[in-house]
Amino acid sequence: MASKPAVGVLALQGDVAEHLRALRAAGAEPAGVRRPAELDAVDGLVIPGGESTTIWKLIEAFGLAEPLRKRLADGMPTFGSCAGMILLAARLPDAASGQQTLGAIDMTVRRNAFGRQVDSFEEDLDLAGIGGPPFRAVFIRAPWVEQAGDGVQVLATEPVAGRIVAVRQGPALATAFHPELTADDRIHQLFVGMVKESA
Ligand code: GLN
Repeated sequence: MASKPAVGVLALQGDVAEHLRALRAAGAEPAGVRRPAELDAVDGLVIPGGESTTIWKLIEAFGLAEPLRKRLADGMPTFGSCAGMILLAARLPDAASGQQTLGAIDMTVRRNAFGRQVDSFEEDLDLAGIGGPPFRAVFIRAPWVEQAGDGVQVLATEPVAGRIVAVRQGPALATAFHPELTADDRIHQLFVGMVKESA
């Protein structure tokens, strides 16, 4: 592989540009992914924050559901933030009608879990797997992980609600918050490192 891995951002809806910026800063060669051929061309994929019901509808409309499931089953590194975390879950009890997930991480995720009163907030988190000071996490109508399977590594817990908000299972990484919205690129660096290792 070239020294800069090709990392796609699923570019159907959501904060695509912010992930492209953060990936470039973290040493990857980023590219938007909308078509199966574009998915074939990347070494790893970010699924951004946005609206998981809308992203799912567009995944189906663009013929990406089976190609995505196949790449994930083959071990393609993936990172989902917020709506992306929802899409990576194996179980989504409060899915909207017709909404499916990709099932890359053995976890049950609850959408909009922190409630309307706390629509958006920021919190300093201790994150396993990255060095340095706590990570300033931005939560926007965020999900949480209700239950994580034995093979899932918990990377961070939100201190007030005591809920799991960052996980990794093998090549799949997910955060309930939005690291792409801050200037701290350590999570994107972690992910780009995972992509390099898997190549
Ligand atoms: N609540 C959104 C959903 O269910 C996710 C919010 C976000 O990605 N900021 O998809």
